[in-house]
Amino acid sequence: MQDMKKMMLILLAGCLLVACGKESAPGPQIVAHRGYWKTEGSAQNSIASLLKAGEIGAYGSEFDVNLTADNELVVNHDFSYKGLVIRESTLADLRNDTLRLDNGELIPTLDEYLEASLQYPEMKLVFELKSKGDPAYEATAIRKSIEAFKRYGVQKRVEFISFSLSACQEFARQMPRNRVEYLGGEMAPAELKKLGINGIDYHHSVFLSKPEWVVEAHEQDMVVNVWTVDDDEVIERMLLLGADQITTNVPERVREKIDTYEVKDMPAF
Ligand code: MG
Repeated sequence: MQDMKKMMLILLAGCLLVACGKESAPGPQIVAHRGYWKTEGSAQNSIASLLKAGEIGAYGSEFDVNLTADNELVVNHDFSYKGLVIRESTLADLRNDTLRLDNGELIPTLDEYLEASLQYPEMKLVFELKSKGDPAYEATAIRKSIEAFKRYGVQKRVEFISFSLSACQEFARQMPRNRVEYLGGEMAPAELKKLGINGIDYHHSVFLSKPEWVVEAHEQDMVVNVWTVDDDEVIERMLLLGADQITTNVPERVREKIDTYEVKDMPAF
């Protein structure tokens, strides 16, 4: 019975895709995960990855942000960088000339990242706050981030994501017109909406086991993002489910799949 329900939802999503028509609906928005880094001269979370996402016309460039010991914001996925714990290191420690990304850049500051983003003013800035849930850390990181957005005039381009529910709530409180997508994967969309959060960004396995959450999110006027989708079959399944955004390490591949997608190609579930 549950399988039948899932299949009905999937078929409904597929029909809606067809009804919308490809000319007027180019499909899900493509977000380059940690920028577009799987290409010459790039590296994850580098300035180059942001610019290369802009060059290929990605809807958004996703990046991860950490706070240093001297309360500076830097772009990096992990809590540590080249053996240094970011929260225990100053910006000067991290920007040591000997510590470089794979493409030769120094670890970017948030300011550098936002300034570079002005070259592609249409592209969204999918900002992930890395947090272990400490309220003081989150308050400082969010305050300083919003100050930086204002400094560069990019507030409207920011879409906030985090595994920290409290950080999502706080960002939503301070930037209520922006998209805020919770990453955790364990909460039903309606529960998040009650907390003021207007989007979900879950691992694709969550949507494969709970496709009804896509419908529930849309009923709540919430945006549905999915990470990290690099595999052809998973791309197709997310298209069928009706994801609004696809976060991927292979943005050009996803673009090609969307542009050539036919509902008759529906994979067997
Ligand atoms: Mg991230």
